[in-house]
Amino acid sequence: MNEADVVILGGGSGGYACALRASQLGLSVILIEKGKLGGTCLHRGCIPTKALLHAAEVADSARDSDDFGVQATFEGIDMAKVNAYRDGVVGRLHKGLQGLVKSRNVTYVEGEGRLTSPNTVTVDGTVYTGKNIVLATGSYARSLPGLDIGGRIMTSDQALTLDYVPNKAIVLGGGVIGVEFASVWKSFGTDVHIVEALPTLVPAEDAAVSKAFERAYRKRGITFTTGVRFSSATQDDNGVHVTLENGDTLDADILLVAVGRGPQTTGLGYEEAGIAMDRGWVLVDDRQHTNVPGVFAVGDITPGLQLAHRGFQHGIFVAEEIGGLNPRPIRDVDIPKVTYSEPEVGSVGLTEAQAREEYGADNVAVYEYNLGGNGKSQILATTGFIKLVQRVDGPVVGVHMVGARIGEQIGEAQLIVNWEAYPEDVAALVHAHPTQNEAMGEAHLALAGKPLHAHA
Ligand SMILES: Cc1cc2nc3c(=O)[nH]c(=O)nc-3n(C[C@H](O)[C@H](O)[C@H](O)COP(=O)(O)OP(=O)(O)OC[C@H]3O[C@@H](n4cnc5c(N)ncnc54)[C@H](O)[C@@H]3O)c2cc1C
Repeated sequence: MNEADVVILGGGSGGYACALRASQLGLSVILIEKGKLGGTCLHRGCIPTKALLHAAEVADSARDSDDFGVQATFEGIDMAKVNAYRDGVVGRLHKGLQGLVKSRNVTYVEGEGRLTSPNTVTVDGTVYTGKNIVLATGSYARSLPGLDIGGRIMTSDQALTLDYVPNKAIVLGGGVIGVEFASVWKSFGTDVHIVEALPTLVPAEDAAVSKAFERAYRKRGITFTTGVRFSSATQDDNGVHVTLENGDTLDADILLVAVGRGPQTTGLGYEEAGIAMDRGWVLVDDRQHTNVPGVFAVGDITPGLQLAHRGFQHGIFVAEEIGGLNPRPIRDVDIPKVTYSEPEVGSVGLTEAQAREEYGADNVAVYEYNLGGNGKSQILATTGFIKLVQRVDGPVVGVHMVGARIGEQIGEAQLIVNWEAYPEDVAALVHAHPTQNEAMGEAHLALAGKPLHAHA
C-alpha cells in the first residue's frame, strides 16, 4: 500500500499513538520509522532511565536497610546485570508495541523518510502519498558550542550505555534529564557535581519545589553549582576537565551534557514543502495544524514541553482531528510533569509565580502541606510537601509536589487541575489511609478552611 488516509513520519510516542488511534477510527495508515518503533522514550529515554532509577532505589534500600532493622549489605553495582534488566524491560515493551501496531492493520515502513511534497513522503525512492501527513520526527540531545560529544563527554544516549559506574561525574544541566542521571549515579556510588546556568536546579518548577529539591540533593551529598555558565571542557587519559565562567575548575571521569533537546527536522524537506518553522521547530496552531493544509506535527518537534505523554496525546488528537471528531486542544499548562529522581518532583498547572502573574498578585492563595504530617511518608522516611495554588474563590490551578515516590500522586493532581476542582470538591473526597495520597486530601482540607492533620 503506497497511499493512505494518514502517512506518519516517525514512530516514536507521537507518531505511533497517532497511527494506533487513526486505524481505530477506520483510517488507513502508513507509519514510517528509520530506527526502532517506540522512538526516544522507549529506547533512549523514559523507560531505560526509569529502569536505572529503579535499580538505584534498590541500591539505596540495601544501603539504608539497617535504618529499618533489616540486615543486608550493599556490596556494589553489577552494571552488566543492571543493563540486562533494563534491556529486558525495553525489549518486552518493544515486542509488545510491534505486535500492537501489526494487529491494528498499520502499514509499517522501515526506512528514512523525507517529505517530498505537502502530501508525499519518500523512502528509498518509494513514494508514499497521504491525504494527511503527520510529522513526528522527534528530538535529539543538544550540546553547547565548542563542546564536542565523544569519549568521556557524552549525552544521555551514551550515558545510558555505560557498562561501568563512574567514580566521579559532572552533569551539565540541572533540568529533568540531568538531575535524574545525577540521582542514579549517586545511588550507584558516584561522586556527582551538577552545573546549572540558571539560579536553581529543576528551574522550570515552582520556586518552593526547587528550593526543597536542592536541600534534598545537598543532604544526599550531590553537589552543585547554580547561576554559573560552563566555559570549556577538555579530556585526556585521566579524565575530563571542566572550566566554568567564574573560573572554577572541575575534574571527573565523565561529563554528561544534559542541556536540552533540539528538534530533529534538518534535511527532511520540511522547509522545501513550505512548512513554517522557527529555529528548527515546526510551528503549529492549537489544533496541531502546520501552515500547510493537510500537514500536522506532533510531539517534540513542536515548541513546548518535551514529554512522551504530550506526544501520545498530540498523536491521538491529530488522529481524531483528521477523523472529524473535533477533539479538545491540548495545552502545555495542563500536562502533568514528573521528575523521577530521589526525591521525586511532580507538578501540573501554574506555579505560584505564574498564577500571580496571570490573576494578579492578590488573587492567588497557596497552601503547602508538609509530608511530615503524613503517615506513609513517615514510614518511607521521606520529607517534602504538596503545594496547592488556587485562584482566590476559584479552582485549584496548580499542584506542586516534592518527596520520595510523590510522582505517583500526579494522577489525582492532574484531574484536580484539569477538571478545575475547588478545594471543597477535593476535601469532600475520601483518601485511603495510610497513603501519601492522603496528603493531597489534607492539603485541600486545609485550603478549604478545615485542616485535619495540619496546623492551621
Ligand atoms: C534521557 C531521557 C529521559 C526521558 N524521560 C522521560 C520521562 O520519564 N517521561 C516523559 O514523558 N518523557 C521523557 N523523555 C522525553 C520523551 O522521550 C520524548 O518527549 C518523546 O520520546 C517524544 O516523542 P516524539 O514521538 O515526539 O519523538 P521521538 O520519540 O524522538 O520519536 C521520533 C521518531 O522519529 C524517527 N525519525 C526521525 N526522523 C526520521 C525520518 N527521517 N524517517 C523515519 N523516521 C524518523 C526517529 O527514529 C524516532 O523513532 C525523556 C527523554 C530522554 C532523552
